[in-house]
Amino acid sequence: MNHFQYKNGELFCEDISVSAIAKEVGTPFYLYSKATLTRHFKAFDSSFADVDHLTCFAVKSCSNIAVLSLFGSLGGGADIVSGGELFRAIRAGIDPKRIIYSGVGKSVEELRYGLKSGILLFNVESEQELHRLNSVAAEMGVTAPVSFRVNPDVDPKTHAYISTGLSKNKFGIPINESLDLYIQADDMANIEVKGVSCHIGSQLTLISPFVETLRKVKGFVGRLEEKGISIQYIDLGGGLGIVYDDEEPPHPQEYAEAIKEEMSGLEATLILEPGRVIVGNAGIMVTEVQYTKTNRGGDHEKHFVVVDAGMSDLSRPSLYGAYHAIQPVKEDKAVFQVVDIVGPICETGDFLAKDMAFPRVEQGDLLAVLSAGAYGFTMASNYNSRPRVAEVMVAGDQFKIIRQRESMEQLIQGESIPEFVEK
Ligand SMILES: *Cc1c(COP(=O)(O)O)cnc(C)c1O
Repeated sequence: MNHFQYKNGELFCEDISVSAIAKEVGTPFYLYSKATLTRHFKAFDSSFADVDHLTCFAVKSCSNIAVLSLFGSLGGGADIVSGGELFRAIRAGIDPKRIIYSGVGKSVEELRYGLKSGILLFNVESEQELHRLNSVAAEMGVTAPVSFRVNPDVDPKTHAYISTGLSKNKFGIPINESLDLYIQADDMANIEVKGVSCHIGSQLTLISPFVETLRKVKGFVGRLEEKGISIQYIDLGGGLGIVYDDEEPPHPQEYAEAIKEEMSGLEATLILEPGRVIVGNAGIMVTEVQYTKTNRGGDHEKHFVVVDAGMSDLSRPSLYGAYHAIQPVKEDKAVFQVVDIVGPICETGDFLAKDMAFPRVEQGDLLAVLSAGAYGFTMASNYNSRPRVAEVMVAGDQFKIIRQRESMEQLIQGESIPEFVEK
């Protein structure tokens, strides 16, 4: 359930009409509902209320500091994958003791920044990273708290580009090889072994791969204990899917029940890293129709709706062939035709929808691209020198711009013409 609903034929976000916001902010823009963000965070987090756990929101899915700050105020932590995300999380007021750091390519500077900030855990993904972290920690005279991200070789049964827990993926350390690494780490002066972590993929619509993963992790924790290494944290990653179209993902409550059952008998604190399931359906992207046109060839004709947002603003359709439902903001359209909804970018891959049965719309109509809260704005780029769009948050009958639309000047910020180029 989310707070984007039609009232008298007009799309509303909570108590404000989307067109009223568009009138003030211009298009395109991302629009988040505070009530939906809150509701989704709580639905997830409270499903684990009866076990010792920490919900670390995956910052890469939606990283605006207003959104992070909201989750922080609800007791959430952050799962980060770069120094930039650490900076955001800290700026948003998230307690570093609730921040965990994932990712295969952490630089020396990033490790130092994490140590200086006093984060809860580094999810180490290779032997070389372990050695680098140990030496950076030694230089700083501190101890680094570590989990290893193990790769359980479980098929998450999702899109190939968002599968991460198979042995052919770049992520983590094969679970069978990681025992030696734990023993090695346990002997290192500036490393403190604390946990086991994993993350098998994104947009999972089945519970079984999570359960299979946890079962493998549990077996592994037993082997560690035999070696005298005790584990305080078990991190199951994120990955729970949402409804974009006709998927039937489990409710967070069902997911939690299955995991809690599998966790029973373990003393460790459970860490979860949800992203999409919390923000995906708490945000939409609003775009305006610029042109409609029909290209005719031999025996066919193709209808296009050209809008002012493209793959630089929402890349999931182009990148993964992902489906996003799209609806006119005003519900008064009745005649349907099959269209491609495309952006202004000079790429054939620049589309938001392909062969979609869509009400006939005209220049100036507003469209809402649904389920755009996760991996939407955070994957935006300046390709074709398009300023990144505004982000807006609604709470009840108020709205605030939480990120200004970029200006032309910002587009060239930091660029210069060296004298050997100047005429
Ligand atoms: C991307 C990512 C997540 C979040 O995944 P969702 O599918 O958005 O829940 C969690 N943990 C790690 C390590 C990730 O890379």
